[in-house]
Parts: sequence; C-alpha cells; structure tokens
Amino acid sequence: MPQLIDTGNVTRTAASPTILSFPGDPGYDDARRAWNLAIDQRPAAVAMPESVDDVVAAVDYARTVGLRVAVQGTGHGARHDLLDGTLLINTVRMTGVEIDADARVARVAAGTIWIDVVDAAVEHGLTALHGSSPDVGVVGYSLGGGIGWLARKHGLSASSVLSAEVVTADGEVVRADPETNPDLFWALKGGGGSFGVVTEVEIALYPVAEAFAGWLIWPMERAAEVLGAWAAWTREVPEEVTSVGRMLQLPPIPEMPPALRGRQVVVVEAVYLGDEKSGRALLEPLLELEPEIDTFAVVPARALTDLHQDPPTPVPAAGDGWMLDAFDGSAAEALVDVAAMDGTSPLLSVEVRHLDGALGRPDPNGGVLSHFEAPYVMYSVGAPMGPVTGDAIGERVGGLRDALQPWLSQSTYFNFADTDVASSSLYPSGVFGRLAEIRAEVDPDGLFRARHTI
Ligand SMILES: Cc1cc2nc3c(=O)[nH]c(=O)nc-3n(C[C@H](O)[C@H](O)[C@H](O)COP(=O)(O)OP(=O)(O)OC[C@H]3O[C@@H](n4cnc5c(N)ncnc54)[C@H](O)[C@@H]3O)c2cc1C
Repeated sequence: MPQLIDTGNVTRTAASPTILSFPGDPGYDDARRAWNLAIDQRPAAVAMPESVDDVVAAVDYARTVGLRVAVQGTGHGARHDLLDGTLLINTVRMTGVEIDADARVARVAAGTIWIDVVDAAVEHGLTALHGSSPDVGVVGYSLGGGIGWLARKHGLSASSVLSAEVVTADGEVVRADPETNPDLFWALKGGGGSFGVVTEVEIALYPVAEAFAGWLIWPMERAAEVLGAWAAWTREVPEEVTSVGRMLQLPPIPEMPPALRGRQVVVVEAVYLGDEKSGRALLEPLLELEPEIDTFAVVPARALTDLHQDPPTPVPAAGDGWMLDAFDGSAAEALVDVAAMDGTSPLLSVEVRHLDGALGRPDPNGGVLSHFEAPYVMYSVGAPMGPVTGDAIGERVGGLRDALQPWLSQSTYFNFADTDVASSSLYPSGVFGRLAEIRAEVDPDGLFRARHTI
C-alpha cells in the first residue's frame, strides 16, 4: 500500500508517485483530458494505474482523504458536472486483450478500446459487440448497455459480459459472474460505473467474419421522404438487419470524400448478417428511392468498426439522446423541420437507430439493462467550436425533443443520455428498485460517481 504524505489540500502518495497527479503537477492536464474536448474536467486528483494493485491503492487513498471516485476509460462519456471533489481513475494504461478462440471469449483489461478487441478477434474469424466508434472503451460502453451493428441479432454488449473483476468501495478485489457475487454482476450489466472500478471483463465473441453493409445517400431535400420510408422499412426487416436513419451536415474539410465534402445529406446505414443477394433484395424498397450513392458491399467484420464514420480522434462534442415509442413519416417530418440542416444548423448529425429484435426481448444472460421497451433511440450532436456554441447546439437539440413529444418514450438510454435523467428511466419497468438496493449494499457511503450515478 503506498505511504501517504499530507500536502495540505489532498494527499500525495510517496510509494507510487507516478500514478497520482494533482492540479499544477506536470502530467495533470494530460491525465484529466477526456476524448470529448468540450468537457474541461478538473478533478481534485487523477490516478493513472497500471495494475489492479494501483487501482486498490487509488480507491483506498480516495476513501482516506474523503474524495469520491470516478473512472474514465476514454472520456467518450465525460460529463461537465461529474468530477468536483473527485479522484479520477484514468485506466488508459491498463490495456490488453487475450482471446480464447475455442471458447469464443475475450479477456479485456479496463482501459481497452473496441478496435483492439476486434483486431485480436478477427484473426480467429470472430468479432465482438462493438459500437459505432472504434475508440470507445469496452468497459464504459458495456456497463451502459452497448448498442452496435450486431445488436438486433445478438443483443446488448452488456448481456455478452461473462464476468468482471471489480475493486469495490472498501478496496477489495472481487470477481462477479453468474455464480460469484451474482447481484453485483447483474447490476454492472447496464448499471454503469456506480458499483466499483472494473479492472477486467470477459466478453463473448461471435463467429461473424463478414457482413453486407454500407450507406445509401440522398440529398438533404429528400430527408423527410427517405426517413419516412426507412421507418416503414424497419418494420419489415429481419433481426439480421441493424440500421440507422440519419441526417448529416458534413464539414468542408479535406478528410471528407469530395462527393460529400461540405454537403447536407440524408443517409441510411445498415448491416445485414447474410449474403449479398438476399441483402440487395432486402434493400429493394430503399433502392427504389434511387439513392445518389450506394456503398453496400460484402465487407470484412473489421470494417464495421468505422462504418458510421465517427471522428477518429478526440473532438469537442455536445449533444443528447432519447428514446422513441414510434417513428413514422410524421415524426420524420417534424425532425427534418426542426433540425433544419441546410448548412446553417449547429448540428452535424441527427440519427435514429432501430432497436427491437433481440434488443426488444429480455435476455436470459442480461443484467439490469437487457432489453428496451422502446423500438428506436436517437442521438443528435454538434461540435462546439468556431462560431458554433454549445448553447446553440443545446437549443436546437431541445427543439428536436420538443418537436418529437408525441413519439417520445418515458425511457432513456444510458449511453446516449448526456444530460441528467431520472435513474429509473434508464431501465425497463420493475428493476430499478433492486438496482438501488445493490448500490446501497456495495457502496453504502456513495464513494463512486459515474455517468448516471445510481
Ligand atoms: C463518438 C461516439 C460514438 C458512440 N457510439 C456508441 C454506440 O455505437 N453505441 C452505444 O451504445 N454507445 C455509443 N456511444 C456512447 C458510449 O458508449 C458512452 O459514452 C460510454 O460511456 C463510453 O464509454 P468509455 O469508457 O469510452 O467512456 P468514459 O467516458 O471513459 O466512461 C464512461 C463512464 O463509464 C464508466 N466507466 C468507464 N470505465 C470504467 C471502469 N473501468 N470501471 C467502472 N466504471 C467505468 C464511468 O462511470 C464513466 O463515467 C458513443 C459515444 C461517442 C462519443
């Protein structure tokens, strides 16, 4: 255990000085930085553990000096209000993936990002339930549910977590799986970071080597028609299809393909776990709308990690997401009107993701969040930089939410809700009470703070 030296405000460790940094220390600014550059988080101290022992030392330290603890893998889910009076445990140095190809299991260290798991898995003809962005953290994503391109067939990433190693509020290292600490295991799978520091997870892998996937693109003027047709299409497609209807206002930057640079477009993105012939047949109702660009092809599983074309590096971002009980032609019209993505909107992307399928049924291997009662989830985002302010983005996103009131669900999605929501709205009916009880048992003093602290 590191020896503690009192520095006045908070306390510096002598035995492992490299893992803790304080405001003013060289390294503090790098350590506190989140992927989302719009979030200027200023924790009381940051720990950069390299081992489970370091994590235990950091948790013990925080408890001793009266700081709360929050954990960051990448900072994709960083929040403005989280870190006052808090020790941030940044797991970026705890990375690694081990694959057991026969068992179809990956053992993944706390700070690992999805692309590293997928790169290791595809060598064995396997892949994982990653999301739309290759550099999102496996642990943070899975603790909040995790909706990716295989989700309508294989469910939430949380339900594919097979075990977790956790440092609890009293500094103990425990395993959580269906037999050992089953309540904690259930709570972690969708309950987020309120229950301890997860130092490692084992996750299930799936034998998917390739898929029929791509984008159909039309000019923005067709947005209401295309999104309405996409909504009707989602009601017909099998679970092998996971898709997104989306409006994009693309920046005029050289990284964009010339055909899209600086343009406003409406897009259907989809992944079909099947062959090209049947995939093309499934797409027929959308192809009848004569898209300007059709990128659909059979692609290797790895290509799905950047199908959505999320930013490859940290950026400033502001947005919010919510769930819809229905999405149809009228909802599409309301969305298009208010988003007004004509080149002057503060928003870059407004997307609706189709759920249902395996995501609409309780998963027998699932935890507190194992399915959704709502069939669609939305996320809208802008980049607060240059002339575009966070307030302008917030106002437009709020306007979208108001316009969608008739379709809005009472429930919200853990990973897409970027503002404060009632914790109970994050879960299917009837499970929140048990989650709150487990939180009170494993962290009675409320040491851990999290994106959506329970
Ligand atoms: C560009 C982008 C694309 C995204 N795409 C998708 C998507 O396709 N599907 C989807 O479902 N979500 C998606 N998300 C949302 C994303 O899943 C959440 O923001 C998630 O919280 C990110 O996890 P992280 O570890 O990368 O981020 P972090 O900000 O590092 O972590 C988020 C929270 O997870 C908890 N946490 C992280 N690590 C640990 C740990 N080791 N122990 C305990 N708690 C921990 C903490 O409470 C932390 O506040 C996306 C977000 C962005 C910005």
